[in-house]
Amino acid sequence: MGEFLLGLHCIGCNREYGPWAVDYVCPRCGPVAGALDLVYDYRLLSQRMGPGTFAETRRPSLWRYEALLPVSADYAVRLRAGWTPLYTSPDLARELGVGALWLKDDTLHPTASCKDRGTAVTVAAARKLGRPALACASTGNAASSLAGFAAAAGIPCYIFVPRTAPTAKLAQLVAYGAVVFKVDGTYDQAYALALEACDRFGWYNRSDGQNPIVVEGNKTAAFEAWEELKGDLPDFALVSAGDGSVVAGIAKGFLELKRVGFTDRVPVVYGVQAEGAAAIAQAFARFQAGEPVLPASERAETIADSICVGTPRDALRAVRTVAETGGGFITVSDGEIVAAVRELARRAGVFAEPSGAAPLAGLRRLAADGTIPTGGRVLLFITGSGLKDPRGGLEGVAEPPVIPPTLSAVEEALG
Ligand SMILES: [Zn+2]
Repeated sequence: MGEFLLGLHCIGCNREYGPWAVDYVCPRCGPVAGALDLVYDYRLLSQRMGPGTFAETRRPSLWRYEALLPVSADYAVRLRAGWTPLYTSPDLARELGVGALWLKDDTLHPTASCKDRGTAVTVAAARKLGRPALACASTGNAASSLAGFAAAAGIPCYIFVPRTAPTAKLAQLVAYGAVVFKVDGTYDQAYALALEACDRFGWYNRSDGQNPIVVEGNKTAAFEAWEELKGDLPDFALVSAGDGSVVAGIAKGFLELKRVGFTDRVPVVYGVQAEGAAAIAQAFARFQAGEPVLPASERAETIADSICVGTPRDALRAVRTVAETGGGFITVSDGEIVAAVRELARRAGVFAEPSGAAPLAGLRRLAADGTIPTGGRVLLFITGSGLKDPRGGLEGVAEPPVIPPTLSAVEEALG
């Protein structure tokens, strides 16, 4: 497979490159401005494929979408990525006044976050290209994902994380046997250092916004939702945004379904950011005003560590792709995010990390201000497990009482 891949298109200067001619960003435009987009022969795909083609592969993973991926499933590692459950949540839907609510539960991945999608395809590409080592900078999830898939592939892995990365994510990295550099600085500084190191040592870089193949894995979450809903896509889709690669991938996935003729409408996609780390939301506002989009580096601070990004590396792609769906970006407070963690766990039984629950906080806002009308059908992408960073679940909750091991103590505690 990979036979439908035409090449790479620079979203900055529109220059075209051959399918494997460039590893990362457009050499002329550089990072962010020169993000490369993989382009397929959609006309040929629509002739060769029908809506049932994916199911015919019988693969319970994202490799069922091999035709719309750049690499053959022959290069995939054994860990399963994709084909995660889609739940309905009628109770929450009623309360929010929306017509239907679905939760795409990407917490159920081998390393417990949606990053396994981008990693699975990127590691397969590294194997196809025969790259001797893998590396990435990450707020934590992409790193633990890469470490896991590199371990399964038997390829050495070098990781750059900010020293503030949560313990659970560090534990994953160490357990998988990655070489970990805890950078005494922000995620943005760790990112810049990873770029230099990859350049120096020839490691294959999986970092979001740098490697265009990551987005190809991310887009499969949209394909799955389409398949699971039997082609009847929702009106709105919400997902959290840090660097922007995940939301860009999901929007691209919906748009590609339209390009191959499998749907005539795509959901309006919203990226949800934290108020303290809202560089893409600000870039989107500039985009709408016709001003230069590229984000400046700024301080980032939020409890949602996975989206705590001051210099989003895939901002331009995220802004453009989301705009093409008719959507946008919104911000929510840390308080709203923490409330959403609890609400999602208690009402739907899905325990997400703060960034994973942020879309529910975003939905609450968009439903309240009428952007999502009463009766609108909504899909939330839940991107990471609450076990990754239990602070979100514990924040603002009273400690459970400690009682003697007697039934009378239970009765007393029950009041
Ligand atoms: Zn370019």
